[in-house]
Amino acid sequence: MLENIVVWLGDELAFAGSSLLDTSKRVSVWYLASALLFAGVLLTVRYGRQGWLRLQPYLSWRVWFHRSARTDYQLWLVNRLLLALLIPKTLTQAVWISWLYFYWQEHGFRDLQLGWSTSVVMVLFTLCYFLIDDFSRFFVHWCMHKSPWLWAFHQVHHSAKVLTPFTVFRTHPVEGLLFFLRSMVSQSFVISVFLVAFPNQVSLWQIYGVLVTTFLFNVFGANLRHSGVALSYGPRIEKWLISPAQHQIHHSVARHHYDRNFGVMLAVWDRLFGSWHAGHDDQAIRFGTQQAIDDMGMIGQWSQPFKDIQRLLRDRIKHRQMWLKQLSQKNAPHD
Ligand SMILES: [Zn+2]
Ligand SMILES: [Zn+2]
Repeated sequence: MLENIVVWLGDELAFAGSSLLDTSKRVSVWYLASALLFAGVLLTVRYGRQGWLRLQPYLSWRVWFHRSARTDYQLWLVNRLLLALLIPKTLTQAVWISWLYFYWQEHGFRDLQLGWSTSVVMVLFTLCYFLIDDFSRFFVHWCMHKSPWLWAFHQVHHSAKVLTPFTVFRTHPVEGLLFFLRSMVSQSFVISVFLVAFPNQVSLWQIYGVLVTTFLFNVFGANLRHSGVALSYGPRIEKWLISPAQHQIHHSVARHHYDRNFGVMLAVWDRLFGSWHAGHDDQAIRFGTQQAIDDMGMIGQWSQPFKDIQRLLRDRIKHRQMWLKQLSQKNAPHD
């Protein structure tokens, strides 16, 4: 038993380590380097030699070894182990897709027989996949800020006092589980609908269109979003794409930055929901929630959300009891 646990632990840790060299993973050394190069070139074009000085927060060991950053690494590793234990290996996307595929067919959804060429179907598939995936990320994130029950868990991500690319993994396991379900549901939905509507026209190679967008997102600075390097995409592109500077605003302690920029890739969702805030290269932002959780280590990051949920429940019960008491007093017969 113990031997099995040690072997499993060793395998999972080796897998986590190897993901740092895996070109399909966002926080691989390749994308960490490409983000640096991208920001370096863009800032040099904008500010000349001074531009490189703006990269200092990305390279500073004080940031990478900050207590907050060390908590990011711990959460990254331990959450990986926990989610590997909690999510059964059999619950793959293929299972969801085939379940939905038969569900659509049982409910009368069939081949649309539109006669469209494979390339048209491919473009449509890539577009739908990208838009639904990006919107569902935005919407779940939006809910995490608007519901106090969900915010209790999401505050862990916002408690980072310094941002490093690993802050993307600074999440509570409950949030990790929710986002895992989100990606399963949204991606399986699009793939299964296309498999039924355009049989024999959607195959695995068409997913490359989606992989290309993820690749471009990673090459061009996905890792800068969680960093101290303020980089905007310029006034025109900023309105359409979420720049690193925009996501840094999302992490700001400043009151006028609260609940701004929930998006991942597209800025249009935030503009539609009225939560968009443009970023600037010269913005100076302090990160965190300014609550006690900011200074907590890994155990505190795990337990504090449950304490907050307990408090919310107590308040809810107290409220209800008061309401019932008022109601019974109102309905009591008067002398
Ligand atoms: Zn957030
Ligand atoms: Zn973030």
